Amino acid sequence: MINRYKVIGYDSEFKGIIKEGNTTLYLPRVIKGETVEADIILKPFAQARLTKVVEPNQNRVKPICEYYIQCGGCALQHINYQEQLNMKQELVSNLFVEAFNKKYEVLPTIGMKDPYYYRNKNQVVFKNIKGKLSCGMYQSGTHNVVNTTNCYIQDKLVDKIITVIKDLMVKQRLSAYDEDRKTGLIRHVLVKTSKATKEVMVVIVVGSEVFPGRNNFVKALVARCKEITTVIQNINTRTTNAVLGDKEVVLYGKGYINDILLGLKFKISSKSFYQINPEQTEKLYSEAIKLANLTKADTLLDAYCGVGTIGLIASKHVQKVTGVELVKDAVNDAIMNAKINNINNVRFICDDATRFMINCARQKQTFDVVIMDPPRKGSDKPFLEALLKLLPEKVVYISCNPHTQVEDLKELLKKYEIKKIQPVDMFPHTHHVENIVLLTRK
Ligand code: SAH
Repeated sequence: MINRYKVIGYDSEFKGIIKEGNTTLYLPRVIKGETVEADIILKPFAQARLTKVVEPNQNRVKPICEYYIQCGGCALQHINYQEQLNMKQELVSNLFVEAFNKKYEVLPTIGMKDPYYYRNKNQVVFKNIKGKLSCGMYQSGTHNVVNTTNCYIQDKLVDKIITVIKDLMVKQRLSAYDEDRKTGLIRHVLVKTSKATKEVMVVIVVGSEVFPGRNNFVKALVARCKEITTVIQNINTRTTNAVLGDKEVVLYGKGYINDILLGLKFKISSKSFYQINPEQTEKLYSEAIKLANLTKADTLLDAYCGVGTIGLIASKHVQKVTGVELVKDAVNDAIMNAKINNINNVRFICDDATRFMINCARQKQTFDVVIMDPPRKGSDKPFLEALLKLLPEKVVYISCNPHTQVEDLKELLKKYEIKKIQPVDMFPHTHHVENIVLLTRK
């Protein structure tokens, strides 16, 4: 049945909320306050499909990308950029009200000047569809391939590299991997770029150890794309959703690229976590370090440190930095990054952050400031309890998921108070929200 509805709010991913009787339904690609027509099916489960925007909101704009509906990655492309920033600020504000029953001031979201072509890491999947080689992104939430290499939020170079790879695969008869039959060769291609150093890494993910004709392939690829500085073969024989396997062979160049953030050089390998929006990363880190208001006497813990970026950038403001990170490759990169930049007052430890914190608490080791930047699922209770025992003067909590962040803050508010809340837009046009919270001891 098709009916008219008023969009009354948003869910956690900015899908519009509409009501059919007592049933709540979620509609993508609408704006709060709009009157829309939607096709509703209530059984076997409630679902809604947008059929028409009857009264468009003043912030509605024409999406720039022709794959906007099909892909679903840039869920907010129909909304002007300033309004996207306002919505992210409001989402954070509402989360804090719900969690703490109190209205905290949330600062305006720090946005990008030109919010396009920002990603420094992109992966595309290769698939044979009806005998024809297709490649592109997965449609949001599915394994369907959106057959395009053109994307407005990725580095423009990726488009060129993938187009060349596709052409070479056809010419050199290299097959795409078949997920169901577990046959074929190329599964994914991952491209990492650095705007600052202009270095480019291409990772060819294959489904088996053998890669027939690989020398010819790489030779032709780097001849046609002179921007590429290194090519890696990654072997992923697993059937899970993970894009990368464990085993790698460097086929061309040095096997990694360098980037520069806030004047420091960082080594980026294929597997370590590295922030994907360099322009905004500089703002995020600067803001976090500014909020921490560090002094030369401070000891700093960078928890969930990745390749050590935050700790290394903060190191010149403090006496000593400790970084802790679970992934061995990332810790090795962090140690290398300290060396490359001649930084001597840092140490990096490969450990589960929770276990490390519990040990610190046991040994009565303290830090003046803790900057924590956990993955999407947030931290965990034993980590937070240990943090309450260490009781640093200040905690700066950076989160790529404010929903889990507020849950963690509930524990920390036993001994801390919230001083600043600063969202940063790391992922323009998508529903993702990054948020920094400064906590000081009560
Ligand atoms: N601060 C870094 C990384 C943030 S992403 C940066 O800005 O680049 C979160 C990091 O937490 C990832 O590097 C991930 O490998 C790491 N991680 C995930 N679970 C962890 C755990 N239990 N203990 C320590 N590190 C963990």
